[in-house]
Amino acid sequence: MKAAHGMALMVRNAVMQKELLNLLAARKGHFRLESGHHGDLWLNLDLLFVRPNHVRRFAVELADRLSKYNVAAVCGPLVGGALVAQTVASELDVEFYYTERFVLPERDALVPVEYRIPNGLRKMVHGKDVAIVDDVINAGSAVRGTLAELRSCGARPVVVGALLVLGSAAPGFFAGQNVPVESIAYLPSGLWVPSECPLCASQTPLEDIAADRQNFAERSVWLPTPLTPAPIHRR
Ligand SMILES: [Zn+2]
Repeated sequence: MKAAHGMALMVRNAVMQKELLNLLAARKGHFRLESGHHGDLWLNLDLLFVRPNHVRRFAVELADRLSKYNVAAVCGPLVGGALVAQTVASELDVEFYYTERFVLPERDALVPVEYRIPNGLRKMVHGKDVAIVDDVINAGSAVRGTLAELRSCGARPVVVGALLVLGSAAPGFFAGQNVPVESIAYLPSGLWVPSECPLCASQTPLEDIAADRQNFAERSVWLPTPLTPAPIHRR
């Protein structure tokens, strides 16, 4: 009986992951990116929030997976993370916070970007168990910045939740912080300089994204797995 239930859950999770990746127009292939890197995955993040009711069911599912952590609040980085976090907070009937991204003026700052909770809310989150929620986590700069901000406010980040996690960079980081990561979907993702690209080595046909725009929505984005810190869409 229990095994049958487990199987049904696995099938349900697999269906949900597929539906989410459809919503993101996720596509595997061999792509030449505007940065000059070669990559194996395309996503369209802008499609995610066009139909709120479509993304809502994934946020509700995420809330269900986060419910066992008994958090007092949910915090998400603006923009996409906060949109998902607000639905999760509503479902769990707990407080909602958000962080805003600030680029630091000091050019030689070790971490040039910070995520901050609005001043008027920093005291309110003090002492609370918080779930950090984002839409898509790749390098995880937004969730890492949010983790640091919550700790500096005296809050306890106890779990990270996302609709989609890409690659192993962020899960590796949060494992080191003893903060579990929950997600609806996970995809491995690769980014290489052309000379080291395994898809080139296997002679997989290359699509030139920069030169072949008509195949993609204008604002389709590539989410790089950063070999070195890389600019990430809306992060
Ligand atoms: Zn290649």
